[in-house]
Amino acid sequence: MDPSLEMQALQERVDALDRLVQVSLVMNSTLELGPLLHYIMISAAEITNAQTGSILLIDENTDELHFVATTDPDAGALKGIVVPLDASIAGTIVRENRAVVIDDTSDDPRHYRHIDDELNFETRSVLGVPMRIKERVVGVLEVINKLEGRFNEADVRHTTILASQAAVAIENAKLIEDIQRANRDLQQLNKLKSDFIAIASHELRTPLGVVLGYASFLQEEAEGASSDHVSRLLDSAMQLRNIIEDMTNLRYVQLTDSEINLETVALADIVDAAANDTQALVDAKNQTLLVDHGDPQTMVEADHHLVTMALTNVLNNAVKFTDQGGVIQVSVERRPRYMLVSVQDNGIGLAPEDTSRIFDQFYQVEDPLTRRHNGIGLGLAIARAIIQKHGGRIWAESPGQGYGSTFYMTIPLARED
Ligand code: ADP
Repeated sequence: MDPSLEMQALQERVDALDRLVQVSLVMNSTLELGPLLHYIMISAAEITNAQTGSILLIDENTDELHFVATTDPDAGALKGIVVPLDASIAGTIVRENRAVVIDDTSDDPRHYRHIDDELNFETRSVLGVPMRIKERVVGVLEVINKLEGRFNEADVRHTTILASQAAVAIENAKLIEDIQRANRDLQQLNKLKSDFIAIASHELRTPLGVVLGYASFLQEEAEGASSDHVSRLLDSAMQLRNIIEDMTNLRYVQLTDSEINLETVALADIVDAAANDTQALVDAKNQTLLVDHGDPQTMVEADHHLVTMALTNVLNNAVKFTDQGGVIQVSVERRPRYMLVSVQDNGIGLAPEDTSRIFDQFYQVEDPLTRRHNGIGLGLAIARAIIQKHGGRIWAESPGQGYGSTFYMTIPLARED
């Protein structure tokens, strides 16, 4: 071959490969299917020196092909046009699962003339290749009207590569769409669950208020054995009230910034408030609560009410999951930008695989059907939501089941501190 022609052919190959690499780069940088397929089609037409080109996908319900992309950015006039599988070149490519080159469509019976008539266009030559996802043909990539000469082997090779890139892009988009749909469904379910709990807890409050009211009233008058019965009734009603309280608190799991009232507050006040809230439970189990609330002047940037709630939840758990007579210790430590609060108990401890899962909503280590402790598994999820909204962290450590646990939370120091 003439050296200059050889040079030109080589240059064309380099250009085509360069373009194919570009398509790969664009594929990696965009997730939007429409613009990506359009870019693939423009590249296909340019590399093969064709007038135009399109991608058609099979509609599995109707067994027809429909256009999803062309060299025209919005697929323009081709949108909505369907191509029959049994009477078209694209259909032949699908059925025979191989590339088809037609140099002159004028006397080819496979050509579906309806589109040319509709668009006032003349299809003279066609190169089409099947698009496959995991060996299954899902559509066709076609380039139309070679501007000079005939479609050749190199054109078939290049369009085959582009067709597989388009197939991957379509598959990815479908997967993303599936994930997004599943995510939406989950969010909807989650909302339904939250709504149900909110409604149920609200509806349970009123009758429980009546039970508690009458039980307290009866307790004042009861004597002997009936006094014991009434106090059991009252205890159970109080337990029920705590559960309903927990259910109502579910809304704290999805705290928004506007629900947090950040102030400069003394950490010692928060620690004392949480310890006070827990003291009655500690006494009931003959446990010891040791509190070192640190320097009373140490200020943190926090919503007093919410952080007290988070710490109270952790403390209540320490009491709940520690036997009678156990020891619970609260301490604080100053770090450069935050305060580290720890709650240590010598209770039932945690297996390594549970130390992070216990912060998930409704997760409880014990089997729900045989569990010995009450609660609905929201305390730590709420504590985590609160602490994270403050820009802090919360985590648990334990040497293992039976060896107690320590819960840590960090709370940002107030600026002047
Ligand atoms: P609840 O206490 O209502 O079950 P939480 O969200 O407060 O819900 O706690 C989730 C689970 O974490 C508990 O059911 C328990 O299995 C485990 N857990 C929490 N605190 C402790 C602790 N101090 N020691 C051992 N296990 C704990």
